[in-house]
Amino acid sequence: AMYEAKAAGKASWARFEPRMRHEVVNHARLGSELHNAIIRHELYLAYQPVFDLVTGRLACVEALVRWNHPTRGNVPPNDFIPVAERSGLIVPLGSWVLREACTQLAAWRAEYGDAAIGSINVNVAARQLRDPGFVDEVTAVLADTGLVPANLVLEVTESSVVDGRQVRDTLEALHGLGVRLALDDFGTGQSSLSLLRAFPVDVLKLDKSFVDGICDGEDRGRLAVAAAVSQLAEYLDLYAVAEGIETAEQAERLRRMGYRLGQGYHLAKPLPPGEVAVLMTRPATA
Ligand code: C2E
Ligand code: CA
Ligand code: CA
Ligand code: CA
Repeated sequence: AMYEAKAAGKASWARFEPRMRHEVVNHARLGSELHNAIIRHELYLAYQPVFDLVTGRLACVEALVRWNHPTRGNVPPNDFIPVAERSGLIVPLGSWVLREACTQLAAWRAEYGDAAIGSINVNVAARQLRDPGFVDEVTAVLADTGLVPANLVLEVTESSVVDGRQVRDTLEALHGLGVRLALDDFGTGQSSLSLLRAFPVDVLKLDKSFVDGICDGEDRGRLAVAAAVSQLAEYLDLYAVAEGIETAEQAERLRRMGYRLGQGYHLAKPLPPGEVAVLMTRPATA
């Protein structure tokens, strides 16, 4: 057994190490290229619809940043967001995302009416929350785009909010304005339950990893987490959103578990603004 463990460890190291080196090299270069990406208009946003699982109607959208690199093509956010976080570039990048997303929501509402779409979800990194100007920035963007605070949902992760006094004050101030806060990737962090008491949370986004397990008869653990999060949201009067729904069976299970809202490739992929607009004018299907 010991030999097996050692062999397995070695094998995974052998697989991991060359990729690590590749990443270090890449990251340095990506970082400097990212620096110019905003001014060169290489970034754009895709919008993934979130649906009401009961009525089938569009509820809101999540803005997801995309980088169309001149020679690398589309670089996935999981590759460049961590680079941007380490270098601090996430602050200007995040500012651009926030303004662009709010501008788009205002444009949809102007064209299709306020009832067509109520809010937009924007991902916010830890570094942005620590920036002392963040609350003023959000206030300015809302004023400039003519939105009210309730039109904006900021998605934060558990690890970014367990970050001390300053971040808590920022979240309290935003919540005080009427901006809503969603805990992203919920269930994957360390201290989910105590966080709910320490921070003004409005929305829980059940992480995809739990959704993946709910229709697998063997995986009682993930099923239990998915059910518990739905109950927790109900008791605490929060919205629960299930993310990463890839099959009709998962959507149906989650709906029966009490999830009112869902997001995932089965429902819709991240889309360009024009394709989201089509959903706004479409009659409810469910
Ligand atoms: P996230 O916030 O958890 O976003 C959900 C990710 O899951 C998105 O990947 C989305 O395209 C993907 N997804 C949605 N439905 C499905 C599904 O049914 N199956 C599968 N396999 N995937 C699904 P994306 O756009 O590549 O973004 C990855 C991560 O990058 C995000 O995870 C978020 O952490 C980060 N990110 C993206 N945009 C921004 C941004 O503007 N600011 C910040 N700070 N982070 C961002
Ligand atoms: Ca998110
Ligand atoms: Ca997520
Ligand atoms: Ca995630």
